[in-house]
Amino acid sequence: MDYPTELLQLIRVPQNVAILSHRNPDGDAIGSSLALRHYLEQYGHTVHVLFPSEFPTEFEVMPGAGDILIWDLQPEESKQVLSQKNLFFYLDFNSLSRIDRMGDFVKDLPGKRVMIDHHLYPDPIADYIFSEPEASSTCELIYTFIQGLGDVMKIDPKVGKCIFTGLVTDTGSFRHATNPKVYRIAADLVERGTDDTAVQDMIFNSNEEKNLRLLGHCLSNRMEYWPEYRTAMIWLSKKDYEMFEIQRGDTEGIVNYLLSIRDVRLAAFIHNQPTVVKLSLRSKGNLDVQEICKKHFNGGGHKNASGAYSHSSLKDTIEKFRKILPEIKDKLLAS
Ligand code: 5GP
Ligand code: MN
Repeated sequence: MDYPTELLQLIRVPQNVAILSHRNPDGDAIGSSLALRHYLEQYGHTVHVLFPSEFPTEFEVMPGAGDILIWDLQPEESKQVLSQKNLFFYLDFNSLSRIDRMGDFVKDLPGKRVMIDHHLYPDPIADYIFSEPEASSTCELIYTFIQGLGDVMKIDPKVGKCIFTGLVTDTGSFRHATNPKVYRIAADLVERGTDDTAVQDMIFNSNEEKNLRLLGHCLSNRMEYWPEYRTAMIWLSKKDYEMFEIQRGDTEGIVNYLLSIRDVRLAAFIHNQPTVVKLSLRSKGNLDVQEICKKHFNGGGHKNASGAYSHSSLKDTIEKFRKILPEIKDKLLAS
């Protein structure tokens, strides 16, 4: 691929780089950020990865995860580090609102910005925008970006492990949002020495006992199913959070169990986090949950996986969601 000369210079001559990703970072946010970091370090860049909030504990074993700065926990250090940077990468998000206060701070700093992302409708917030909503994951795009720079040989097992993580998490272990390229990239990473089994173990076999008890509680006591709308929902209250000592990441993936019901087309997970009510919507087939999140809850994401925050009560948010179903019944039954 032909990249602008300025961008090539920025990549090949050591810079002071910040890699930023979104609030509630997931495997793709963490994987793409750390993969890019380990790649850029091979060119001698000074690189810091910064997230607005903490990431799930299972990712702590990823190479370099221990050095990530969390704005919520270290605001002063984050500001100080960011102030020294002259090159900013925006990964796995396309609107500054997704990095909230960190975005307010970063937008006024001097320096060049590069966005690499796969969400719909990017805001014009970077000098170079690599936006491919058809891509499975930002990690897929990081591979493509490095490949386009003619540097595929720099994808060593460490970079590979990070890229593989986002491929797995954003496709639900190659079950959705896949394309032929994802499988080719996965094969190439394994050929280059990536330990794919270790990545799968990190993501899927690192539960604590309480995670399974929480899942059992969700499926037995907190699941609603409306077959007439091909929709299922799980909700969790503040009390549940206390009872199961739920921490960041503990509820990740629970919504996907709803999709395993054969007739379900729309799955919702609505839960009362400490300060806001969070919605996660998932769908099968043509049903566009991005549209639902945007129209009704001011959120966004992808066609089959989107999220939003609500400042109403849990009860009102569930009620609002429930009332949308008759409105979109045709779509629910068609897809
Ligand atoms: P999750 O439900 O796992 O939090 O998010 C699913 C997808 O929707 C992710 O790609 C995430 O980036 C996106 N997403 C989640 N919450 C929001 C939100 O409040 N606004 C926007 N624009 N996207 C969101
Ligand atoms: Mn992603």
